[in-house]
Amino acid sequence: MTDTPVMLVTGGSRGIGAAVCLLAARNGWRVAVNYASNAQAAEAVVEKIKAAGGDATAIKGDVGNAADIDAMFAAVDRHFGRLDALVNNAGIVDMPQRVDEMSVERLERMMRINVTGSILCAGHAVRRMSTKHGGKGGAIVNISSMAAIIGSPAQYVDYAASKGAIDTLTVGLSREVAAEGVRVNAIRPGVIETDIHASGGLPDRARDMAPNIPMQRPGQAQEVADAVLYLLSPGASYITGAILNVSGGR
Ligand code: NAP
Repeated sequence: MTDTPVMLVTGGSRGIGAAVCLLAARNGWRVAVNYASNAQAAEAVVEKIKAAGGDATAIKGDVGNAADIDAMFAAVDRHFGRLDALVNNAGIVDMPQRVDEMSVERLERMMRINVTGSILCAGHAVRRMSTKHGGKGGAIVNISSMAAIIGSPAQYVDYAASKGAIDTLTVGLSREVAAEGVRVNAIRPGVIETDIHASGGLPDRARDMAPNIPMQRPGQAQEVADAVLYLLSPGASYITGAILNVSGGR
């Protein structure tokens, strides 16, 4: 059992992260399911994995808080004793606003969770996986967004900018650790049916956007999870620094 690889998914309790956790377990990974506050949702993911014969544990921690990130990785070390993959998935949007209306508090929260949190988690993962640090190698997938390309005008340019940073993190870190056994890639989801739209005050956003999507429909979390698992699989062994759009042509 200890030979079974371990994946940490930040924001693994709901939406895209939950789909990644469930698919990872079906593909033979042991899974650390991070969440911020919804313990019930995280436990439901863990229970589903265990009911199917897999191994998972829920770990509470706000990726917008450096001490929480330290504690989350320490919990992974204690529970599993190894780490082979990180999915930097936790992320937030905010209410639609123009840039000329945004407060410094909003911007700092957005960047702390979406950008600083992802970079700090990547650093922890590299310290455990890089051959330079005595690790056996591994892989990271960062969840960006098509917003990084489109810019999300009049909705959340700050969010789009945070995802632009995720794209740049992916390129830079992939080159930094390419010779150390660690691959780093990203996914840019388009409009995916999850709770995130309601959290940004636009509960019908996924359905409303359908006519603007070349495939004429929003995506499902499962379709993003399939791409994440591919990038973490041996089949992607020569892929690093890639950013894959999973967006129905958007
Ligand atoms: P979601 O349904 O709102 O789920 C968010 C998940 O992240 C939950 O598990 C939540 O935990 C967790 N989370 C939120 N803030 C956190 C924090 N500070 N620390 C740790 N965990 C935190 O979101 P989603 O739509 O699946 O989005 C996942 C990722 O995909 C995000 O990075 C998002 O930007 C990106 N994305 C989504 C779409 C889309 O259309 N859905 C499009 C492009 C990119 P709790 O359950 O505890 O709240």
